[in-house]
Amino acid sequence: MKDYRFNTKCVQGVYEPKNGEPRVMPIVQSTTYKYESSEQMGKLFDLEESGYFYTRLANPTCDYTAGKIAQLEGGVGGMLTSSGQAASFYSVFNICRSGDHLISTSAIYGGTFNLFDVTLRQMGIDVTFVSPDSTEEELMAAFKPNTKAVFAESLSNPSLVVLDIELFAKCAHANGVPLIVDNTFPTPVNCRPLEHGADIVVHSTTKYLDGHATALGGVVVDGGKFDWMANADKFPGLTQPDESYHGMVYAKDCGNAAYITKATAHLMRDLGSMQSPNNAFLLNLGLETVFLRVKRHCENALAVAKYLEAHEKITWVNYPGLESNKYYDLAKKYMPDGTCGVVSFGIKGGREAATKFMDSLKLAAIVTHVADARTCVLHPASTTHRQLSDKQLEEAGVGSDLIRFSVGIEDVADIIEDIEQALAQA
Ligand SMILES: *Cc1c(COP(=O)(O)O)cnc(C)c1O
Repeated sequence: MKDYRFNTKCVQGVYEPKNGEPRVMPIVQSTTYKYESSEQMGKLFDLEESGYFYTRLANPTCDYTAGKIAQLEGGVGGMLTSSGQAASFYSVFNICRSGDHLISTSAIYGGTFNLFDVTLRQMGIDVTFVSPDSTEEELMAAFKPNTKAVFAESLSNPSLVVLDIELFAKCAHANGVPLIVDNTFPTPVNCRPLEHGADIVVHSTTKYLDGHATALGGVVVDGGKFDWMANADKFPGLTQPDESYHGMVYAKDCGNAAYITKATAHLMRDLGSMQSPNNAFLLNLGLETVFLRVKRHCENALAVAKYLEAHEKITWVNYPGLESNKYYDLAKKYMPDGTCGVVSFGIKGGREAATKFMDSLKLAAIVTHVADARTCVLHPASTTHRQLSDKQLEEAGVGSDLIRFSVGIEDVADIIEDIEQALAQA
């Protein structure tokens, strides 16, 4: 396909039907694929020929959808996973093994934090958490000889910290390791970390990319630029022969798609958290309109943030699109067209007022989710973080008054009216 512009790629990227074929990308709901000879199938198993043979390794619907996201991010290849959690895990585990070390910022999604702080440690992978606001000196001091990657969120959930991608990429590269960026909140519509030096991008596609709260999923995208061979000792999984593929060396035999080929041929083969073709189909429908929806989410969120900032019952508002925000300048640099639809704020009267406010909302629903078309709201102190004391909540950056408001794409006047009547009751 001609190299069309971003929005055109969202609508029509990768899947190109030939004469008489379905206009809409089909769901290939098949685990298996038929061949005429066992010799040919053997070649597929050895990765000597490309083709489909079992959906745990590859499926056309998943490939089209992963390919589209890779295109939107500017990468060389992508792999869909059954959830965002699986994508984060694979992105790290593809290059880290027992005895290795990972650097991550502390401003990351709670599920990712647990994955790194508990599960990776149990697997023998050491993790150092650094502040997302670290200076170059502080970052450089966190590296160890066995560090294999740096992980961060471009715009963190739920704290809405904007990452200085270029600084993190510079420090990672100075230490011969890649930067992995979770780009779930801004989406490639608003931010493309690979253009700023990141090497790998992951997403929870469950959020804006699907955008309708219908399909759990994740994706790993390979930027294709990191030179694994230049740091061959650090990455034996990519630079030494894989005996389960007759001695193939990913970094030599797979061109610039070494990382994503290994993720698919090795991790997905062995661990098997494939996205279902049905979910990939729903995800692709979301991708076709993501550029329209994300723009609207951001316009609505900015209007809501400005309304809240001027309201007497509101003690603070956190939205990087507000000029008063600490991350406004970084947001303008890395996300010039907008950030995301999530706004967090505090309300006078703390936990009690927050609960009353939430229970009084009519249009906005209380759900454990963010980033879909419908406005929704969550009070972490009484739900996801309810086991923590008020002191622990403050330490986690989630005050007892914090309300996380995910602004949808409805008429913004209706959203603001809903907030107004609920605040009147709080
Ligand atoms: C939701 C989320 C995840 C986890 O994704 P799931 O699809 O729920 O597994 C990871 N990172 C970020 C930033 C998220 O918001």
